[in-house]
Amino acid sequence: MLNSDPIKKNSPSLSFEIVYAGRSRELQIRAVRSGDLSDFDGQIHESANEYLLVGKPNAANANAVRMHLPWLKPKPLGLNLSAGVGDRLGLATSGHARAFTKYGKGILPIFVQQSAREMERLFRTPQEVMDDATFGLIESSWMNQFGSDADHLKTIADIDTALAAGFTMFTLDPGDSVAVVPPNFDGNLNHLPWGELEDTEESMILRYKDKQFNIGEISISMNNEEIRRAAYKYSSAVACVVSMYRHLMQTATHEVEVEIAIDETSEVTTMGEHIFIATELKRLGVKWISFAPRYIDGFEKGIEFKGNLGELSVNLKGHFAIAEALGPYKLSIHSGSDKFDIYSMAHDICGGLVHLKTSGTSYLEALSICAQFAPDLFREIYQMSVDSYAKARSSYQVSANLKNAPSAATLSDTELIGLITSDDTRQILHVGYGDALTLRDSSGNFALLAALQMCLIENKEDYDQAMEAHIGKHLALFG
Ligand SMILES: [Zn+2]
Repeated sequence: MLNSDPIKKNSPSLSFEIVYAGRSRELQIRAVRSGDLSDFDGQIHESANEYLLVGKPNAANANAVRMHLPWLKPKPLGLNLSAGVGDRLGLATSGHARAFTKYGKGILPIFVQQSAREMERLFRTPQEVMDDATFGLIESSWMNQFGSDADHLKTIADIDTALAAGFTMFTLDPGDSVAVVPPNFDGNLNHLPWGELEDTEESMILRYKDKQFNIGEISISMNNEEIRRAAYKYSSAVACVVSMYRHLMQTATHEVEVEIAIDETSEVTTMGEHIFIATELKRLGVKWISFAPRYIDGFEKGIEFKGNLGELSVNLKGHFAIAEALGPYKLSIHSGSDKFDIYSMAHDICGGLVHLKTSGTSYLEALSICAQFAPDLFREIYQMSVDSYAKARSSYQVSANLKNAPSAATLSDTELIGLITSDDTRQILHVGYGDALTLRDSSGNFALLAALQMCLIENKEDYDQAMEAHIGKHLALFG
C-alpha cells in the first residue's frame, strides 16, 4: 500500500514512506544524492534519477528518521485538551492518526503510550513503543504536534528506560504505596516517613485543622480523624511520587511533564484526599499537568460507563474545582475506552482542562479485524483469554462472568464478532492479551502475536479504517 503523499523532508532531498510488501513492513526513502541516505540502514537501489533505500523498520532507522523529521519527536502537551491512544501491537498508529486528522479537531494526541505493566507483560520496551509509533506516523504523513505517555510508572528503572526512549510525559503511579486504613485505626502516625516528607506530624495537622477549603461552589473541611486517615493512607505515596519526580527532573535531558495517577487504588478518592495529596505534593515542589484520582465506580475496562451519570457529574465537578484551585492541572480520565456517555459531560465540566486515556479498545479493534479475516486465529486468542481470565482480571476493574463466555468452537465464523461486542467477552479479550500474545511456539517465538500482526498487515486498510472510525467516535464526542 503506497501513500499518495509521502512525507518530505524540509529540504526536498529526501522523501519517506512505509510500504507493506507482502507480509513485511519496509521503510523506503528516496533521495537525489546517495550521500543523503548515509544516516539510514538498508539496501540502496539506483535508478536513472534517484536513489531508493529499502530498510527495516528498526531502532536505528527510527532514530535517524526522527533526526531528519524532527516533528516526529513527541513533545509535552501542557494543559491543552488531549487524548491518549495505546497500541499493544505496534501497528495502530496510522489508524489513530487518521482518526485525529478527521475527528480530533482541537484535541492534541498522545500516540505513543503504554503502561509499564503492559510493556512488561508483552516483553516490549519503551524504545519499541516509540519506534513503532514513528513508523505509523510516517505512514499517515503526520506533521503536527503529538505527545508520548510512559504510563503507570512505578519505579526509577521504569523512568530511566522511558527517558532514554525519548518519552515526554511520565505518569507516576504511587498506588503500591497507598496504605489501607485498618478498621481499628487509632490515629497513630508515628510510622510515616516524616524525614522524606520534610515534615512533622504537628505541622501537617496544622495545615488542615480548622481550615475551610472554599473551592468554587464546594466547601470542604476535614476533622481530626479525616486528616489522620488521609495522612495514613497517602503519605508514603506522596513520598514515593516525590522521589520519582526528583529523579526524573534531575536525569531528564529533554523537556518532560508529569501526570500523577492513583486511579488503580482500591478505594474511591475523596475530595479531602485529593486536597491532601495535591497540597503535600505542591509543598514538596512537585509540578504536574494532570491528575487521575479514582473517580466513583463505573469505570470498567472496554465498556460503557456503568455508574450513575448524575453522581459522576457531581464527582467530576468536585475534583475539577480542586484541580483548578490548586493547579490548575487537567483531570485525567483513565480506563476511558468506550465511555461514550461521559465524554461531552467531562469536557464541559472541565472546560477542556481534561485528558482522556484509552488503550485496550484499540486492541479490540485489531481483534475485530482478526475475527473477520482469520477466524481460527481469533478462536485461539479468545480461548487463551478465557483460560487466563481468572488470573488476568486481578489487576483490572472488570466484572465479566466466565459463565457468559461461550466456547468459540460452538460459534460460526460470522458469530465471532459478537464476542467482541458483548460486554462479558469483550472484557475477557481486553484483559487476556498477556497470555495470548506471549504464547511461545517451539522456537520460542510469540506465535499468536506474530500471526495477529500478519493478519493486520495483510488487511491494513481495513484495520486503519476500523481504527479511524472507532477512535474517531471517541474524539468526536470528547472534542
Ligand atoms: Zn490508569
